[in-house]
Amino acid sequence: MFEALIAAAGLEDIHKKVEAGERLSADDGRRLYRNGNLPAIGYLANLVRERMHGDRVYFVRNQHLNYTNICNKSCLFCSFYALPKDPEGYVLSPDDIRARMETYADIPISEIHMVGGVNPKLPYAYYMDIVRAIKEVRPGVSLKAYTMIELEQIRRIGKKSMAETLLDLKEAGVDALPGGGAEVFSERVHEELFQAKSDSDKWLETARVAHEVGLPSNATMLYGHVEQTEEKVYHLMKLRELQDETNGLLAFIPLSWHPERTAIEHLPGPTGQMDLREIAVARLMLDNVPHIKSFWIMNTPAVTQVSLWYGADDMDGSVLEYEITRNPVTDRIQALTHTQMLDMISESGRQPVERDALYHIVDQPETIRPAYMETSAGATTANGTKAAGARTDAVAAGATTAATPSQE
Ligand code: SF4
Repeated sequence: MFEALIAAAGLEDIHKKVEAGERLSADDGRRLYRNGNLPAIGYLANLVRERMHGDRVYFVRNQHLNYTNICNKSCLFCSFYALPKDPEGYVLSPDDIRARMETYADIPISEIHMVGGVNPKLPYAYYMDIVRAIKEVRPGVSLKAYTMIELEQIRRIGKKSMAETLLDLKEAGVDALPGGGAEVFSERVHEELFQAKSDSDKWLETARVAHEVGLPSNATMLYGHVEQTEEKVYHLMKLRELQDETNGLLAFIPLSWHPERTAIEHLPGPTGQMDLREIAVARLMLDNVPHIKSFWIMNTPAVTQVSLWYGADDMDGSVLEYEITRNPVTDRIQALTHTQMLDMISESGRQPVERDALYHIVDQPETIRPAYMETSAGATTANGTKAAGARTDAVAAGATTAATPSQE
């Protein structure tokens, strides 16, 4: 049956390469982007995904923090930033950060994800102070902080080299970098949408230095705006080259662009089909990157569930608060509870594995299939025992915002 699917898609040669574990070429990448048979591409990506991770799906109990929304870069695709004199601009002090963290003191969080705008007023010491504040509240947490673009600003304000800056941050408590700010590695898109911030060469150089000083990172790609297939293939090829050199990338995260409240909101934005294709093509092209993440906040929980069969092995986590693509006043609380994450993964027929930012395993919870999958013998867990629970309403409805974070 799958042979017929692959034959119908005209992808037999790529199938052979995938089965042989052979690296795909840039031309293969272009064909995967342009081929109309998405299920065939998903099938191929799933072969790689299962070879690398079996049934496992990684998730994390994490909290996202955005320490400032003030930014002087004015990227046209961004809805998050406030210009330096904008009354809606904010900066969280170390005490504010502590307070935000203490809000969720009863949740066993293992990862903090912290990014912000490029705020020209913040001194070098501030970036270390908020890192220390996080580690004071939760000494055992793994901290993923600062995009390559913020790091460039921190380095500049501190008048230090990038290696010195990264070592200072590491000493303060940063464990890994989230990898944002890459957008799409294209000079054309850079000029059109984000010319005030540094380009792909600078992003790659910063990542290279980070990996060299012992700070692993993720890498992202923002798609669904004005980018072209050729540019996305180039982006993936450059990341693959970097990974061959440093082996410092933990995960690749295709980011589904949200047009709302941006300067280019007249553009239609990505569809679910595009989201699944980005996941699948990334899994097939990035043979040396361990994890492909489907970030449910951007992709929705519903698409994320399907993506677990299209190449994704990670779905991020609880998040708790998110302001980057959401209205920070009306829509800041964005959370999935632990139970909801387990249900999402189990309902997809996969095995949940709780991790921290560095993919250390925190827990491997029992899988409980939802009640509606009940057989005549009764609902069963993946290992054959009787199921106790049903899936959550949020997942059932494919909701993008789930219950309150306290409902662990
Ligand atoms: S994407 Fe980042 S750098 Fe660009 S405007 Fe938004 S916050 Fe600033």
